[in-house]
Amino acid sequence: MSELRAPVTAYVAIGANLGDASTAVLCAINDLDDLPQTVLLAQSSLYQTAPLASSGPDYINAVVEISTGLNAHDLLLALQQMEFEAGRDRPYPNAPRTLDLDVLLYGDAQMGSASLTIPHPRMLERAFVLVPLAEIAPARVSPAQLAVVATQAITRLASMSGR
Ligand code: ADP
Ligand code: MG
Repeated sequence: MSELRAPVTAYVAIGANLGDASTAVLCAINDLDDLPQTVLLAQSSLYQTAPLASSGPDYINAVVEISTGLNAHDLLLALQQMEFEAGRDRPYPNAPRTLDLDVLLYGDAQMGSASLTIPHPRMLERAFVLVPLAEIAPARVSPAQLAVVATQAITRLASMSGR
């Protein structure tokens, strides 16, 4: 019997820069809402960013807030399955990708292993993570953290909430 856990609020970063990247990100948001024991609580606007330590076309990025009963490892496995189904392969580190899904925060958990580090080890270096995260969870990103990535160009596209 699967263990029932109290739901945890988690934040997932979504990125894509191959094919129809906007559609890939929007489909991923829908698919996250469809994961078992998981509901979508908030979604950021879509953002466009130049590749950072990567290559190819501009990225489309977003961050979502979910409530999930999955433990952090099962959540990562579900995200990796979604990446796989979106046709992602990993020919070399930081290669262009059809879909990248990263666990940024999982409640207040702190964990570090080769396969899963939370908070995400590189999130504080990336405007494409911090800016959309600050849009939906301003309490989780400080002005000082945003200032560190302020030189990275990031363009907000259509708002998801119509605001
Ligand atoms: P990146 O997202 O840094 O561009 P990948 O998506 O290829 O790179 O992920 C590389 C590895 O990072 C994965 O095999 C995964 O196990 C590991 N990883 C560690 N912590 C996390 C996390 N919080 N979210 C997603 N992947 C993580
Ligand atoms: Mg990743």
